[in-house]
Amino acid sequence: MKLPYAEPYRIKMVEPIGQSTPEEREQWIKEADYNLFNLSSSKVFIDLLTDSGTGAMSDKQWAALMRGDESYAGARSFEELKQTVYNITGYQYLLPTHQGRAAENVLFSAMVKEGDVIPGNSHFDTTKGHIEFRKAHAIDCTIDEAFDTELEHPFKGNIDLVKLEEVYKKYTKEKIPFCLVTITCNSSGGQPVSIENVKAVKELSDRYGIPLIFDSARFAENAYFIKKREKGQEHRSIKEICKEIFSYGIGMTMSSKKDGLVNIGGFIALNNEEIFRTASNFTIIYEGFITYGGMAGRDMAALAVGLDEATEFDYLESRITQIEYLGNLLIEWGIPIQRPIGGHAIFIDALKFLPNVPREEFPAQTLGIELYKEAGVRGVEIGTILADRDPETRENRYPKMELLRLAIPRRTYTNNHMYYVAVALKNIFERRNEITKGYNITWESPILRHFTVKLEAAK
Ligand SMILES: *Cc1c(COP(=O)(O)O)cnc(C)c1O
Repeated sequence: MKLPYAEPYRIKMVEPIGQSTPEEREQWIKEADYNLFNLSSSKVFIDLLTDSGTGAMSDKQWAALMRGDESYAGARSFEELKQTVYNITGYQYLLPTHQGRAAENVLFSAMVKEGDVIPGNSHFDTTKGHIEFRKAHAIDCTIDEAFDTELEHPFKGNIDLVKLEEVYKKYTKEKIPFCLVTITCNSSGGQPVSIENVKAVKELSDRYGIPLIFDSARFAENAYFIKKREKGQEHRSIKEICKEIFSYGIGMTMSSKKDGLVNIGGFIALNNEEIFRTASNFTIIYEGFITYGGMAGRDMAALAVGLDEATEFDYLESRITQIEYLGNLLIEWGIPIQRPIGGHAIFIDALKFLPNVPREEFPAQTLGIELYKEAGVRGVEIGTILADRDPETRENRYPKMELLRLAIPRRTYTNNHMYYVAVALKNIFERRNEITKGYNITWESPILRHFTVKLEAAK
């Protein structure tokens, strides 16, 4: 018999998680104004709100943490991080930040001005927020295949070259500071971008004199998919693939809370000295001195180890295998999910799952609330609430998809937890036709409303 897959690690420390009754959860979610972000974690059994900063560190990372150098300037932990980032990306300039959006804030302060346009593949929400906050525009050039959840395509994060060239033709070079390539593409479902596509985007952008910047939160997962799915890449190491990808850009922003395998942190890495100098000033204003940028020395030390571990094949194989385990159970039970299964999460197609809930009553949010009530599992809406209102017309923006995302923290839950989640969804799926009403907004903030929105059950 062929030996089954098993995780390449064992567990040294455990953390109890709270169970509850359906009646308790019904009450708690009401008190939270039907916003899953408002629930305290003690009221959640399996927390799949995000894979951001929620993972488990390794013994080596904890050991590195103890050896952190807390010097204000030129800490050894900074030098170690800088060397690791250089080894993986080839970028020689490093600016740590307290997390990914801070990297965006610093870099965009240096590069983006009012009226600019930033083409890319489905910009992440904070990224878009930082662009629009500067009165610039994010233009989505993702391939159309990305928006058909059932279509199998190995690289649904790819950029459509025709759409991109239209942007390059419509606006002058001065209005386009860079093209932003998000790897993997979070907003379109954790879907990867191929090397071939990055290369083609680079060639096209070169012709128009536009540089590439990578939004790299899950760059290691992206490299894993390249190795598994792209012809000619199967014999290369993850680190070789990462190095090639980054060679096509002038720099990156990073949320270390994802593929950095740490609980907090971010950075900007660049190979352009001029941008590095300008961005350094903003780092000092917003984050801290340029050799720590809002991070403790020990956190930089743990991050250096984490980046190295995250770019090892065995780690990535165990991570993606777990996500596929959950995804394949759901597929087997006929539950509509985004295909192929992405890198860090399962995305449930709420328009297909809850066809009787009107679009204006937020079907994906409704499914998220149902799942919490059913089993204490917390996911997150990637739909109309997240898409927010148009900054000019203030109308709701209805995205092409209404998704409930179940993000899987790294090295944190077992496959029994995944099975529990799958059964909870199956139970809801079996009574889906009885769910005909969603929720209405009673209060929202003018920007990034999903974090604080208040809702009530639709009558
Ligand atoms: C998480 C994320 C960010 C923002 O990073 P934070 O660390 O959460 O501030 C930016 N872009 C992408 C693609 C992300 O996944």
